[in-house]
Amino acid sequence: MRTVYVNGDYLPETEAKVSIFDRAFLMADGVYEVTSVLGGKLIDFEGHLARLERSLNELDIKKPAVFDDLLDIHRELVRANQIEDGLVYLQVTRGSDGDRDFAFPDRETTEPTLVLFTQSKPGLATSPQAETGLKIISIDDQRWGRRDIKTVQLLYPSMGKMMAKAAGCDDAWMVEEGHVTEGTSNNAYIVKDGKIITRQLSNDILHGITRAAVLRFAREAQMTVEERLFTVDEAKDADEAFVTSASAFVMPVVEIDGQGVGTGTPGPVAKRLREIYLEESQNAAI
Ligand code: PMP
Repeated sequence: MRTVYVNGDYLPETEAKVSIFDRAFLMADGVYEVTSVLGGKLIDFEGHLARLERSLNELDIKKPAVFDDLLDIHRELVRANQIEDGLVYLQVTRGSDGDRDFAFPDRETTEPTLVLFTQSKPGLATSPQAETGLKIISIDDQRWGRRDIKTVQLLYPSMGKMMAKAAGCDDAWMVEEGHVTEGTSNNAYIVKDGKIITRQLSNDILHGITRAAVLRFAREAQMTVEERLFTVDEAKDADEAFVTSASAFVMPVVEIDGQGVGTGTPGPVAKRLREIYLEESQNAAI
């Protein structure tokens, strides 16, 4: 049984409790982060912590009192659950003042809820999907307008995953006004004539921590990066496509809406970026 963390306590998962009036349960009023663990160490932890702080600020959710101890709490859960490869999931919600109301509860008297748990994923970095690549479909982006905030409102992305499964595919890329925003749980890229193309940062997409690291490594390796809008047609006509996220790292995309991308197999740029990211991020893991 897992040991989880809830509001200051390390508990067996079956003993962890959150109020039914918690704002995340009633209104999806919460934010989260997922940090991957490789070889028992946390990948890109500082980036995830910085984005958590930003999400909390954007929604005016109080920082948990133990904010400065979050690294220790992550490490303790990794240790207690003997996680070699896997994930640490963290969620902060606006908490509960014991009733339901659209207006936010009093900030002074309502403490945020803080929950963390681990997921063991042996061989996370050697996923066979990295060898075969993902098949994706394109779907309309029907999410809200502040996708830069990492909220727990994940119903539409979940529906997108199910639409992909129903189509015999692995994932979906969402499209707004003709341009790809991002994947259901990852940032989206194409490669054309050696250039790496990905949508620029704005409120329309999540500012991926893996995206930031991968683009930095790409530039350091003298690759050309273009941060701009691109269409699904452009993606289908690209030499390569791939996605990035904390749990998938760099993952090739080989098919879009039934059409092979490039050679229809994982491309050299995606493979190289995956190698660089895994090597550099593990060297910097804490
Ligand atoms: N976009 C969305 C919509 C996501 O849910 C995620 C993963 N949480 C990402 C991008 C990738 O972000 P990161 O690299 O920080 O995991």
